[in-house]
Amino acid sequence: MQTDLDRAALTVSVAAGKGGTGKTLLSTSLAYALVERHPGAVQLLDADVEEPNADLVLPVQFTGTQPVELLVPQVDPETCVRCGKCAEVCAASAIARIRQTVITFHELCTGCGACAWICPVDAITEIPRVVGRVDTGMAEGGIEFVQGRSEVAQQHTGAITGAVKKHAKDDCITIIDAPPGTACPMQETVAESDYCILVTEPTPFGLSDLGAAVETCRALSVPCGVVVNRDGVGDAGVDDYCERSGIPILLRIPHDREIARAYSRGRTLALEFPDWRPKLVSLLDAVAREVSQ
Ligand code: SF4
Ligand code: SF4
Repeated sequence: MQTDLDRAALTVSVAAGKGGTGKTLLSTSLAYALVERHPGAVQLLDADVEEPNADLVLPVQFTGTQPVELLVPQVDPETCVRCGKCAEVCAASAIARIRQTVITFHELCTGCGACAWICPVDAITEIPRVVGRVDTGMAEGGIEFVQGRSEVAQQHTGAITGAVKKHAKDDCITIIDAPPGTACPMQETVAESDYCILVTEPTPFGLSDLGAAVETCRALSVPCGVVVNRDGVGDAGVDDYCERSGIPILLRIPHDREIARAYSRGRTLALEFPDWRPKLVSLLDAVAREVSQ
């Protein structure tokens, strides 16, 4: 049977307003469920670069690693005339003139290059600094797997997210595990996705985080739908909100001891419970249909 997914290359990010809601459980399960029907055409990108963990629930054979570098400023004190223009132009407060010295804070630098551009005497040289790495390999079932990992104390992870997203192929179904929350790392990940699946729990806290995540998707012009995890706990607030806001509920994963136990043992849903695979594929079919409209 041909479905919408068979006709569409698709990039779907999986996000959540906060950590611990089952985002990785879902992204790994979607990839695993799909690859059975689309061998060689499914990718899983773990863009949760501060805490990548998809490889813990879907075993991965890593075959390659590449450093991610950012160009950061190095000031030549002999040439510098202490005008302070570099500090004025830096939106990240990563370079400062303190009395007669110019100091750089490389862990804050985004590598935008503005300071070097504005320096009137070419006192700034841009030097590479390793901020993280991208690991590549093959996950269980034959899923092409890419994972970003930032260095400790790295404030700006955009370069690593960008390096991970560069691996997305035009002729594949690509699932991206986004960082939790709605701040810059999540936005950088979700931007340009065809669709974003938001995982939430049916509780007042879940609803509050979901509202923020929906607003973020709307600001990014990325259509979104909801997967309710641990369905059966909490109240009807998430359902009411989705109905009022016209956000589809794509799937409900019940509050189930067996599922929780499997996840705590490091096994993802689709791997442990084959009955779930058709439901997950149907979910992505529905997404593909909505995207192609
Ligand atoms: S490269 Fe950009 S972020 Fe880094 S110090 Fe210069 S102006 Fe600031
Ligand atoms: S802009 Fe150039 S000359 Fe001015 S303080 Fe910065 S490094 Fe020195």
